[in-house]
Amino acid sequence: MLSCAPVLPTVYDAMPATARPLRLTLYTLLIVAGAVLAAALAMRHAERQALEEDAARANQQLALYANSLHTLIDRYRALPAVLALDPELRAGLNAPVSPEQQDVLNRKLEKINGAAQSSTLELLDHTGLAVAASNWRLPSSYVGHNYGFRPYFSQTRTQGTGRFYAVGVTSGIPGYFLSSAVTRDNGEFLGAMVVKLEFPELEREWRQGTDTLLVSDARGIIFIANQPGWRYRTLKPLNDSDHTELKVTRQYDKQPLTPLVYQSKRRFDDNSDLARVEGPDGTADYLWESLPLPAEGWTLHLLRRPQVAFEDSRNAGLAAAGSWLALVFLLLFLNQRWRLAKMRQRSREELEQLVEERTRDLRTAQDGLVQSAKLAALGQMSAALAHEINQPLTAQRMQLATLRLLLDHGRIDDAYKALKPVDDMLTRMAALTGHLKTFARKSPSGLRERLDLAAVVDQSLQLLDARLRDENVSTVLHLTRPAWVRGDAIRLEQVLINLLRNALDAVHDKPCKRLEIRLEADEQLWRLTVADNGGGIAEEHLPNVFDPFFTTKPVGDGLGLGLAVSFAIAHESGGRLSADNHDNGAVFTLTLPIDLEVPVSC
Ligand code: ADP
Repeated sequence: MLSCAPVLPTVYDAMPATARPLRLTLYTLLIVAGAVLAAALAMRHAERQALEEDAARANQQLALYANSLHTLIDRYRALPAVLALDPELRAGLNAPVSPEQQDVLNRKLEKINGAAQSSTLELLDHTGLAVAASNWRLPSSYVGHNYGFRPYFSQTRTQGTGRFYAVGVTSGIPGYFLSSAVTRDNGEFLGAMVVKLEFPELEREWRQGTDTLLVSDARGIIFIANQPGWRYRTLKPLNDSDHTELKVTRQYDKQPLTPLVYQSKRRFDDNSDLARVEGPDGTADYLWESLPLPAEGWTLHLLRRPQVAFEDSRNAGLAAAGSWLALVFLLLFLNQRWRLAKMRQRSREELEQLVEERTRDLRTAQDGLVQSAKLAALGQMSAALAHEINQPLTAQRMQLATLRLLLDHGRIDDAYKALKPVDDMLTRMAALTGHLKTFARKSPSGLRERLDLAAVVDQSLQLLDARLRDENVSTVLHLTRPAWVRGDAIRLEQVLINLLRNALDAVHDKPCKRLEIRLEADEQLWRLTVADNGGGIAEEHLPNVFDPFFTTKPVGDGLGLGLAVSFAIAHESGGRLSADNHDNGAVFTLTLPIDLEVPVSC
């Protein structure tokens, strides 16, 4: 029997031994590289997402800051236009002012400036000379200074209004100048009414947050900053005409303009960047949001240190690496299972093929064995028959002599009586020879006639009758009749004879020899047992008794084929044959399926 499970090869079995560690290292490296890559991508993605969210938040805040700047400027935009209509101020420009008139105008502007909370109010004549100013009391008073070079003055003369951010040449304080033309009723230009706004309040307010807020002009020069060190830095290079114009207008007067060095690292959109900036506090990365203010021609900037939470990005990285590894191991697991399933399938197919081949070989061998065992049995049977026939022949010769004498004496009745035993003896001899004729013939395989197993037992006992009687064996029979089975009578008889002969061999030297044969139904089966009191089979021989050529009998006596052939015949007939021991002997059990079909009577 093929009982051992096939040894399944592992995945590595398919590789040459030297390639395995190399390939293993390569796979490990690939998996680790994949995990690192996944982690890096996830961290980068998490970082970018956090930055974009931060940028969007910063952009909203920037709009609020722009709004506060607009509101501040708008509050004062109309002030110079309104003051330009004031008759007293207009009168001051009509003709050269007397010191008394100038004093009145100064005090008036001072009062209005105080009420409007602007930085400075000044009245310029048609040449740009400050006729009166709200800061007349201070040493930095504008009065008497000429501001004709300032662009807002020329803008006012040509366009009626002007605006300009500049550092005060007199005060040194930067501010936003908004101006409006003062004209005669006929539209003749008399001068300009100017309001100066400074933004210290705004800068202070903006300083409260951690963000850096900057306002740059059209040339990219930062003129408002809520942090020290950022003001008067240039965001783009200035050309010659810029330099000339800055000199003429003295916009930033004596302030040195130094470039701000920065480089965009990642651009989210036109007005949103991640930039590395060499700021006044050292080099750092900033989220840089810009918002153009078209009304003034300025740009508002918000610079914020990116606050990508390290833990968030690390967690994203770990999660991605974990997912990658889980995916890889799942794939490896599935791949391994698939390979194992394939190998198992292959092993199973090979095994099945092997079993088929072995079964074929065994069947051929068995057929041969059955045939040779039959021939061997025939030899033994011939001897038994010779013995069986010789005796009756001698007896019959004597009977015939007796018969002749009786006939000679005219004792017809006695002669008739003497014929009976002769007749019996001849019948018996005919039966024996009939058996002999069919026994050596190889029965066509697969012959399965309906037959009575009890009759097969009878037949077998009859064949061995001489030996049973000679050896004084007592036979006990418990046979259920009829016991219908399907099979080949001769082959089943061969099984019975083998079992009985073995039993007789076993009890041969026992003083009291006993055989017990039972035939009874057990569910769907007929159970036929042959038990003897010959001492049984040694425990270590039990597993081998059905092996071909297993014998414990002396050379010449046993071939070791009887049980092997019987076992095969039992199987062929759809039954089983097994061996066991009971109290003082062996017991062989033959089971065959009960044939339930009712025989057709002809
Ligand atoms: P053989 O009879 O030629 O030895 P068998 O195949 O008929 O071959 O039997 C094999 C062996 O089984 C025997 O040699 C014997 O050892 C053992 N055996 C069979 N039947 C009996 C029995 N009834 N009691 C004890 N041993 C037995």
